[in-house]
Amino acid sequence: MSNTDGSMNARSNCSASKSSSTPHNLPFPIHGSTIECHGDDGIETTGDIAAPLHVSTTFVSGALESCGQVYSRLNTVTRTRVEALLGAVEGGQAITYSSGLSAVTALIHCIKPRRMYVDAGYHGVRAAFKLWSERGSLGNEKFEIFTLEQCKQLFEQRESQPRTERTVWHPVNTKEERALDLIWVESPNNPYANVADIEWFSELASRTGACLAVDSTLSSPLGQRPLEHGAHVVMHASTKYLAGHSDLLGGVLIVHHSLSDVLACKLLAERTIDGAVMGNLETWLLLRSIRTLSLRVRRQCQTASIVVQWLEKQRIDGRKVKKVHHPSLESHPNYSTAARYLLLPPATFSFELESESQAKSFAQSLLLCTRATSLGGVETLIDWRHMHDTSVSSALLRVSIGLEESEDIIQDFEQALNKAE
Ligand SMILES: *Cc1c(COP(=O)(O)O)cnc(C)c1O
Repeated sequence: MSNTDGSMNARSNCSASKSSSTPHNLPFPIHGSTIECHGDDGIETTGDIAAPLHVSTTFVSGALESCGQVYSRLNTVTRTRVEALLGAVEGGQAITYSSGLSAVTALIHCIKPRRMYVDAGYHGVRAAFKLWSERGSLGNEKFEIFTLEQCKQLFEQRESQPRTERTVWHPVNTKEERALDLIWVESPNNPYANVADIEWFSELASRTGACLAVDSTLSSPLGQRPLEHGAHVVMHASTKYLAGHSDLLGGVLIVHHSLSDVLACKLLAERTIDGAVMGNLETWLLLRSIRTLSLRVRRQCQTASIVVQWLEKQRIDGRKVKKVHHPSLESHPNYSTAARYLLLPPATFSFELESESQAKSFAQSLLLCTRATSLGGVETLIDWRHMHDTSVSSALLRVSIGLEESEDIIQDFEQALNKAE
């Protein structure tokens, strides 16, 4: 298949996946969980209530029943449905990928940043940026990863211009005009649930000409609205809350509507060539999962708050808990920033015991909750983070709250805390 074919089809796919929150041309707008259940109505018309699982990679050319599908690397009807839903839920245009990291890599390859700011957070994302810089440096190009201090200096150096005259980010701006190409912010972040002041980064983006991307995985589309605070792109590892059942790998970029033609279409065309699409089964599982997104995430966040309060009480009572990293607590450094940005308290957070051995024995003593990495699923998981990311204290445990009853999780934590030595 030629490149021209690829990008042509990607372009038609581009308009097909533009999301609307009024499927079926309803005479009224729909909201929240209604979008999760109906935001893709009318895209596939088979009479099935549950979405059919399609396995075909190729389709009859030009037939009405083919719903515009050509070849499954270019487009599939289930992917179009998922992207319509995710776009409507986050408020932009969604492009899905085979994993969270392939979504990050796709944005890096599309923007080709030479000067970038990468927030502390998920170790895999930091590794993706490092790999990009190392590969680029082989061709003698100069890559710079800016520190927050350097960003603050840039912020001060570059005058704020009246809004209308600001350098609005655009992929065709020449690199020479930009002080920064890409700002990558993970908020709330791994594993401290630190919350970024997205509007400050948005101002930095407009002063430097950078694209602002927010990894919003830990809050899910329900927990915050980065596009409304000035982000150009939102990324989710759909492996986590969007999938919600620990049974698929996927990633998604959601591009602000104002950049649909310049950025979303370019990403779609490049995805067709790079080939990092979700598999049919994963796409179908994701569609099934989005139907219950609000139901799951709201409950997980609510339970997390209860467990966090219990952990904080143990800390105050001097029972082995040294720190609880959750932005709903006044002791958290981003308590007030969180109040500005977060619509729900994060269901993933961490806490520290007094020592590495206490943390390990706590995790090993759990009877109900499971020791495993990853997050966002229906089962509560505890992760000894130091194993994956040595920049994190060896006394820290990350918690991803599932759908169990809060009192059962607390009973399990209570007995494990008693055994922790
Ligand atoms: C898991 C995760 C990723 C990477 O997603 P994969 O699907 O594992 O590639 C990126 N960012 C955050 C915040 C994550 O939690």
